[in-house]
Amino acid sequence: MPAPPFDPAAARADILERIGRAAKAADRDPSEVVLVAVSKQQPWDAIRPVLDAGQTVFGENRVQEAESRWADRREGLDLRLIGPLQTNKARDAVALFDVIETLDRERLAKSLAEEFDRQGRVLRLYVQVNTGEEPQKAGVAPAGADAFVQLCRTIYGLGIEGLMCIPPECEPAAPHFALLAKIAARNGLAKLSMGMSADFELAVRLGATSVRVGSALFGERPAHQDA
Ligand SMILES: *Cc1c(COP(=O)(O)O)cnc(C)c1O
Repeated sequence: MPAPPFDPAAARADILERIGRAAKAADRDPSEVVLVAVSKQQPWDAIRPVLDAGQTVFGENRVQEAESRWADRREGLDLRLIGPLQTNKARDAVALFDVIETLDRERLAKSLAEEFDRQGRVLRLYVQVNTGEEPQKAGVAPAGADAFVQLCRTIYGLGIEGLMCIPPECEPAAPHFALLAKIAARNGLAKLSMGMSADFELAVRLGATSVRVGSALFGERPAHQDA
């Protein structure tokens, strides 16, 4: 028997329900947790039913791809950049997004501060922390996170809303989520972007205020592209 076609609207309802249960299990209010729908590389046929179901928060990892998908229909949406940002794309990113979750170096802090001034627009910002200290991964090292948050605040006048992490693929995620929560707490940051399709319930139990879910919501991304 062939598998039934993937139903993104039903998947969304199921994910929201699981977020709610995980929040309650941790004595948290489910409304404290935002579902970020990671629409990168997804065909419009998969995205439309999720939009129609009332989803307003979307995550993208590339500026240009996000522009082509959302520029004409971004009214009422909360668009978040969750992939690395090159300084030469800062202008376009500031013009398009509401949130940048991948602030991780001084040059980028400087570019963003300049663009906020120039465009008269202030985005919400998350500092990405490379909790697994993986050489190939973006993010500030855990040991440098406090100083970097301070630098953003004091030198560049940036408001930092929270922290974001992507744990190493082949390790249990819980210690990484716990580490991110600890760094946030000691820096007075209330928001934690952590948890993806495979582990968002765990992330909610450990304090996530937003979870970034792609494949569990829209179905698998086309296989030949990177993540
Ligand atoms: C692609 C991506 C996700 C979503 O991953 P899924 O496993 O498909 O849920 C979340 N966060 C980041 C930073 C991503 O690049």
